[in-house]
Order: sequence, then C-alpha cells, then structure tokens
Amino acid sequence: MERLPYGALYLHVPFCAQRCGYCAFATEAARPDDPRLDAYVEGLVHDIRAAAHERLLGRVETLYIGGGTPSFLGPRRLVSLVYALSLSVPLGPDTEFTLEANPESLAPTLVRDLYALGVNRFSLGAQSLVDEELRALGRRHTAADTRRALAAALERTGNVSLDLMCGIPLQDRGSWKASLDEACASGVPHVSVYPLSIEDGTPFARAVAAGRQEGPDEDGQAQMMLDANELLEAAGLARYEVASFARPGLECRHNIAYWTGVPYLGLGRGAAGMREDPRTGERQRLLDGRVVERLDPAQAALEDVMLGMRMCRGVPAGLLQRAVGHNPRLAAAFAEMEGLGLVESDGRRYRPTSRGWLLGNEVYRRIWDAAEDGAVRGPAQQVPEGAPVRAPARRTAGDP
Ligand code: SF4
Repeated sequence: MERLPYGALYLHVPFCAQRCGYCAFATEAARPDDPRLDAYVEGLVHDIRAAAHERLLGRVETLYIGGGTPSFLGPRRLVSLVYALSLSVPLGPDTEFTLEANPESLAPTLVRDLYALGVNRFSLGAQSLVDEELRALGRRHTAADTRRALAAALERTGNVSLDLMCGIPLQDRGSWKASLDEACASGVPHVSVYPLSIEDGTPFARAVAAGRQEGPDEDGQAQMMLDANELLEAAGLARYEVASFARPGLECRHNIAYWTGVPYLGLGRGAAGMREDPRTGERQRLLDGRVVERLDPAQAALEDVMLGMRMCRGVPAGLLQRAVGHNPRLAAAFAEMEGLGLVESDGRRYRPTSRGWLLGNEVYRRIWDAAEDGAVRGPAQQVPEGAPVRAPARRTAGDP
C-alpha cells in the first residue's frame, strides 16, 4: 500500500506508580526501578529509529508522549527517549511536542532537561486542586504538587494544559469552581475538563455495584461542565472542542490532527495509528502496528464529519459535500439539524451551535443514523480524543 507520510506521532507509556480507582486505561502499576521500564524505553527507541529509517517521520508536525504516566519513567529514561526523538523527527520551532505528566513526578529539573531537548508543551493530570477530592480518586499527588509542577512548566514553556475532572466523590459545585478559579488565576493557557465516568472492571465500578459508593450524578456533571464553560471563557480560554479550552493559538494541535484526518503513527504497547492510501483513499486503523479496521472513502468521509463536528469550528462545506456525495441522506440530516438549531452554517463551514454542544450526542446520533439509513455503513462511532491508545477513547489530551 502506498502511504501518505505521518503528520503526527504518539508514544504510549503504559506504566504508572499505582492504579487510580477509576482508571480503565491501558496501563499498569510498576516500581520506579522495574527493569521492564528500561526494556520498554529501549524498545521504543528502537521503533523510533526504525520508523525514521523507513522515512515515516519526515513530516511529523506534532509529537505526544502519553500514558499511563510518562513522567513516571524518570529523568534518565525520558531523556534517552526524547533524545532519540530529537534525532529522528525534524523538530523545528513550530513543532508541537507534548509530554503528559503527573504533578508528583514533574520536577523543575526534568522540565528544564526535556525542554532543552525539544519538549515544548506539558499536559498535567491535575484532576482537582482540592486534596480531599484527590484522595477520593486515589491520586498520589496533592494540590501543592500540582502548583509546583505547573509553575515550573509555565516558567519554562508557557504552553501547559491542565486536566480537571467533575463529578468526583466529595466534590460539589463550590469546590469545582474553586479548582477552575485557581486554574484560571494560574495563567495556564489550556484546560481540559471531563466528567468522571464509572468504567467496567474498575474498583469504582465495584464500589458502586456494592452500594459503597454513589455513581456520578449526570445532571450535576452537566451543570459543572456549564460552570466550566462560563468560568474558563470569562478568563479568556475559548472552548474549541467538546472538552477543551485554550487561549487563541495554544489549542492542542496534536488532538486537532486526530479530529481532522491527519495520518498518525502510534508506537508502544496498545498504541493506535491511522494511515491512508493516497491511490485508493482507503483509511486503515492500526493497533500495535496491525491493521484492525479498514474504512473505504465513504466511511472515511463520514468519520471526518463526525470528528470535525466535535470542534467549535465544525467542518468545511467541501468536506460535508464530499460525505454527502457518498451518502445523500446526510444533506437532509444537516438541514434538519439547522432547523432544530443544533447546527449553523455561514455557507463555508458547518458547526455545532451552543444547543448542539449541549445536545452533542443528538448531533452525532443524527449523523450516524443518516449514514446507517443510507448507502454508507459508517465507521465505529467511537472517536479518538487525545492519546490514541485505548483506541479510541473519550479523553482529551493529558493524563487521565
Ligand atoms: S488515571 Fe492516569 S495516573 Fe491513574 S492509573 Fe490511570 S493512567 Fe495512571
């Protein structure tokens, strides 16, 4: 298969200091001196060098090391990994290079050394700035750890993202707003917010099933997401995606690559990738280097529309027309959504309205239903958010 070059590179680090009670991601607990960590990094370095030899990395514009907890690897392993990347990917001033980190393992010296090698963006898994909520989640760090790590990262790069979670046990609207207010006051230019969800097989799921813990209050979480929208927008962080807010120009370009059909290479255990054949238009989804799904051009166009509609800027009219060419029912679905105030258009782009944001699942369902009724059997409705491991998942950039 003739391939387009990759525009984005993702490296997965499937290790953490411990498993959080709510986590269903592809990661495992390890000790810092576990020899498997050294072997894993050596394997990644080998894969990076091999991909460079195959000339797959010459047009990579965004890199993302995610997990798991990449910062848990520690300075020696991370420096070796990032050094290998710096030799293999043309890192220019415009390349976006993100490292996910947990606050307890992002020391100022680590920030300094990685920045020197090309890392220019840090995504911190803060989740909350209230200690009792962090304890309820089973996180290892404290709010003070987050403040220290955030200050170090902001001082070095200015391009930092915080993940915050709503619906945490013991959290109420007041404490949620306190976390948001503190994030805004810190000057962090990117925040991702997301509701706690109870995933099968996790300690949280068992606790809820046994009646030892309440499940999330979805109405309450919806209100908290509205609170986040209000406070973050007021602080100058514009919403550009379902769960992502940023100062203009500091949106996560790596995530935008996933949502705009840019081919990406995923390296590491359980990492997903996507590539396209420019001759046939076939899109392939990969997991651990193996093709796990093939999308024909009609399915790929539909996927591009679905992913594009999760962003505020929506999709260009030309892209929608291409999808309509494969599946004429989509035209009626979009006209109907415009009539219902879910979607708006200026003739050049179609984008979700505020009502469309609030009823996001309704928008996706209508697009999906149109595809199922029509000629196209659409791709899986799951959409990648952030790290393309756990392919694809609900998350945005940053540590879970
Ligand atoms: S939530 Fe993050 S830090 Fe916790 S176990 Fe999962 S990947 Fe690791």
